[in-house]
Amino acid sequence: MNFEDIERIAVLGAGNMGHGITEVAALAGYDVTMRDIEDEFVEDGYDSIEWSLGKLAENGQISEEAADATLERIEPLVDFEAAVEDADVVIEAVPERMDIKKDVYTELESYAPNEAIFATNTSSLSITELSDVTERPEQFCGTHFFNPPVRMALVEVIRGEHTADGTLDTVEQLAEDFDKTPVRVRKDSPGFIVNRVLVPQMNEACWLVHDDAATVSEVDSTTKFDMGLPMGAFELGDQVGHDVTLHVLEYLNEVLGEAYEPCPLLEEKVDAEELGKKSGKGFYDYEDGGVDIPADAGREDVKARLIAVMANEVGKLVENDVASVSDVDEAMMLGAGFPEGPGKRADAHGLDELIETLESAHEETGEPRYEVSDGLRQAAEEGGFYGSEDGSETVSFEQIEVETDGNVGHIALDRPARMNTITVRMIEEIDTALDQFDDGDVRAVLLEGGGDRAFSAGFDAASAAPESGLEASEMSRKGQQVFGRLEAVGMPVVAAVDGYCLGGGMELATAADMRIASEGSKFGQPEHDLGLLPGWGGTQRLKHVVGEGRAKEIIFTARNDYDPETMADYGLVNEVLGHDEFDDRKWDLARDLAAGPPIAQKLTKRAMLAGRDDTDAGLEYEASAFGHLFTTDDVWEGLAAFQQDREPEFEGK
Ligand code: NAD
Repeated sequence: MNFEDIERIAVLGAGNMGHGITEVAALAGYDVTMRDIEDEFVEDGYDSIEWSLGKLAENGQISEEAADATLERIEPLVDFEAAVEDADVVIEAVPERMDIKKDVYTELESYAPNEAIFATNTSSLSITELSDVTERPEQFCGTHFFNPPVRMALVEVIRGEHTADGTLDTVEQLAEDFDKTPVRVRKDSPGFIVNRVLVPQMNEACWLVHDDAATVSEVDSTTKFDMGLPMGAFELGDQVGHDVTLHVLEYLNEVLGEAYEPCPLLEEKVDAEELGKKSGKGFYDYEDGGVDIPADAGREDVKARLIAVMANEVGKLVENDVASVSDVDEAMMLGAGFPEGPGKRADAHGLDELIETLESAHEETGEPRYEVSDGLRQAAEEGGFYGSEDGSETVSFEQIEVETDGNVGHIALDRPARMNTITVRMIEEIDTALDQFDDGDVRAVLLEGGGDRAFSAGFDAASAAPESGLEASEMSRKGQQVFGRLEAVGMPVVAAVDGYCLGGGMELATAADMRIASEGSKFGQPEHDLGLLPGWGGTQRLKHVVGEGRAKEIIFTARNDYDPETMADYGLVNEVLGHDEFDDRKWDLARDLAAGPPIAQKLTKRAMLAGRDDTDAGLEYEASAFGHLFTTDDVWEGLAAFQQDREPEFEGK
């Protein structure tokens, strides 16, 4: 089944996940049949979708008409055969029991078209074992959506032992079309990525308290305020439900061994029916004050222990080729809301120190969960999960293309179907590419957008919008840091703009030393139209290039149609070129610069940067402001107006 041929989706199960997946598929324009075993269950699922679409319309995220049309694309059914007989893809979200799922697949096989793909939303069962009851194991994979599907961007796409590459490619394209970000899990491994990292961290938090090594307050203060995770470990555990966490742990324990032995504290909570928020009490009492985490009770040793435990799991995932470290990091950011992936964080902490933390805990307790994984040891030997100081690369690039041509390092933003819009992952990949260039023979960088429509149309607000002010500030800082690095890198950088160069894309181009543009390209900083401000250095850097007056004009007018000739007048664009000469010229320029005197070039850049007034304070202000703006109503209005293609009505709230 090719992605282009997919028209009709069937979702089995209308429960929590089934109705959410149905909604997401219908929002993306697919006809969807949603099947459950009783009229009452399909009706409940349908009502939940109707409610959720109503909320989206109420918040201005979709129009009323779009909500109605989405609902019309959904057919709730109990008749199994009718639900799947015309389906191109069947997504199964029935209860998490092997026997129920196997029965469902056996029956499904007899009704579904031969070419249909089957995808299971299981959180823990073996994809391979499930695929074996069908006659199409190569057309079978896992699609692990996160709850609620309509809000969570991540889908783990899991390869079973027999899954064909084509099936995974098709399903990943479909997930993207659902406006989700698929992350490939290369092996059918328990807990896939997110649960495999998150659940042992929760278990370790419990062990720390169980062993009287720390209090609940200290652990939660450390995780929430010192590590910057969206919630304290116990706060999150209470939210998820300790029965759910225990269930996953028991499964990890059964399949992967004693390193995953559940902490007795967790079992006690489940036995006492203190399951968390849903039962009114967990580690916090929701009928008496609820969550209360002190901001200043964090401890360095607790932080080191939790980061070490997660790094150990990352090591195992990488060593067993379940996922690359960058995929693990992306999945954790999207699926668990981590501000930075556990691989990156472990590198920043220092892998040798984390190994020492694990070794000394192992020595003290003899517990197998502290045995250092081969993957972690190997990463430490190589100087980090993200590669060694000699530039050997362990990261796969997915959102940019990186190559070296002679002495020119070439980066092409590689999301042409999405106008090369920028995600946090893309920023991290640019950072990694610069690591490579820094350590090799590269003497100039050529930066451009893949495809023929855009350099970059800006930040990918559609799939990667931050969910809190804190997250937005973190995202702003991340971009500032990497774009700042590009600006400061000790060699000339050329941005070649062919098409749209807007918002974050223009900020990226502004961080280059020189910009050339093809005729007809369009520039602009339209953030104010969304009630935002340029958050990746744009409030500071642009004024150095075009002067403060011009920078204010560009930002305040929020235009997205500045032509390159005007931008050349303003001093942003160095050359405007016809389409027939553009490709040759960009390479000639980059090669000329690469042939220049490297030390003089590097020192010239440094001198110019050193001569600027102190922009750090400005950048800090920009990041805080960016975070603050994300908590305002104006941003929702701006985003809604953008999606509906209408003028925003800002109220200054
Ligand atoms: P749920 O209990 O809310 O829904 C399951 C639905 O399947 C019920 O409505 C049930 O009536 C229906 N059902 C039972 N037998 C069926 C059959 N033969 N055909 C069609 N429908 C049938 O469960 P859920 O939380 O939606 O979980 C569904 C799957 O998604 C599970 O595999 C679960 O592990 C996984 N999952 C859940 C979450 C979560 O947070 N809830 C997250 C990711 C994955």
